[in-house]
Amino acid sequence: SDAGTEPTLEARERHAELARELDEHQYRYYILQSPAVDDSVYDRLMRELEAIEAEFPALVTPDSPSQRVGGTFSTDFAAVQHAERMLSLDNALDDDELAAWAQRTERDAGSQPRYLCELKIDGLAINLTYERGRLVRAATRGDGRTGEDVTLNVRTIADVPERLTGTDLPDLLEVRGEVFFTLAGFEEVNAAQVAAGERPFANPRNAASGSLRQKDPRITASRPMRMLVHGFGAREGFNPASQSEAYELMHAWGLPTSSRWQVFDDLAGVRSYIADYGDRRHTIEHEIDGVVVKVDQMSIQRRLGSTSKAPRWAIAFKYPPEEAMTKLLSIEVNV
Ligand code: NAD
Repeated sequence: SDAGTEPTLEARERHAELARELDEHQYRYYILQSPAVDDSVYDRLMRELEAIEAEFPALVTPDSPSQRVGGTFSTDFAAVQHAERMLSLDNALDDDELAAWAQRTERDAGSQPRYLCELKIDGLAINLTYERGRLVRAATRGDGRTGEDVTLNVRTIADVPERLTGTDLPDLLEVRGEVFFTLAGFEEVNAAQVAAGERPFANPRNAASGSLRQKDPRITASRPMRMLVHGFGAREGFNPASQSEAYELMHAWGLPTSSRWQVFDDLAGVRSYIADYGDRRHTIEHEIDGVVVKVDQMSIQRRLGSTSKAPRWAIAFKYPPEEAMTKLLSIEVNV
């Protein structure tokens, strides 16, 4: 609140060090696809950076890792400008952070919003552009403004319709979703990698990213990739009143929406959804790293708006890391 507080030398130095470290981790994660630390370690470094910035707002610059959508694009693919920016999501790492988000949201909304809950799929974000019902382009998120043209690769994914069917098709619709492997699909891909003398992928997210960003779409076509819709960007002739109505419309046109989303009247419902899927997260056919909670009503989404990095009307609740599981997996991959 006091933008004038001069940052201490110690704060400046720690801030610069954290920014450097986070940049390095982003490079390893998004470009090299070989992270040096667990996500929970990365998330804690980001939290520390954000805490320093909250105390000393003068340190918040547009190039701070706290202000940018992570990721970039490779020159192996043509660059595509997204008609509307693709954002990231803010995180809640425990119930207190979730409650604080809900309290802010309810205060700024001016009323009790409905909350839509869905699973956070650990894959790769994709932007599908449909013009009058025809798929004309598919692009990765990149830095949020510019992504990579992966249209040929995405056309090989069976879940992605080439044409939407039905009535009242919008003139333009950017469909946002996640491209991913099921756990069974991931095992299949890694078995094939090993059989071909290649290195197995470290996790399903890396496998999705590596498989979609292939110069030869036949390689993508040979892998059992899936896709699920979790939002939309630019649109003309598409004016749903809520996120849930948007999913129903997109589903009716043949787009792959999840059957697991649920709408609740208040935070108590959200908590029960999180607890329920927390108990049985390993029975889901794909990897999840949390639950995404979204304000359902579009009018309230618009009122809340976005930061430079994420919508204020949504939050990703992350389940606590499972150390034992992570260790087991990394041992398997490194031998
Ligand atoms: P994110 O993956 O935490 O969340 C945003 C993404 O979630 C969206 O782009 C979307 O593709 C996806 N998503 C999945 N299901 C969704 C749903 N139902 N609704 C909406 N979106 C959904 O954010 P990010 O910006 O891609 O990455 C940041 C995260 O990546 C960090 O929190 C950290 O855990 C991890 N990371 C780790 C390292 C590392 O070194 N280990 C480095 C950089 C980033």
